[in-house]
Amino acid sequence: MKKFIITFLIFIFTNLAMISPVFAEPVMYNTQTQKVHKVSCPHAKKCTKNCIKIERKDAYNKGGVPCKTCGG
Ligand SMILES: [Zn+2]
Repeated sequence: MKKFIITFLIFIFTNLAMISPVFAEPVMYNTQTQKVHKVSCPHAKKCTKNCIKIERKDAYNKGGVPCKTCGG
C-alpha cells in the first residue's frame, strides 16, 4: 500500500511539471505584428481585429515576440 502511494505521488508531480501553468496560460497573440500580450495588457484590450487568444507556448511556437509593456 505504501509503495502504491509513493508511485501515485511521483505520478502527480511529474504531470504537474509537464503542465506548467506559465506555458498553458492563455495570451493574446497579434497575428499581424506577432506581439504576445498578457490578457490583461492594455494593448491586448485595444487589439480586437488581429488578436487571437491562444496558449503562451503556441504563441511563441508561431514566432511570437513578447510585448514591451507587459512582457508577453
Ligand atoms: Zn502587451
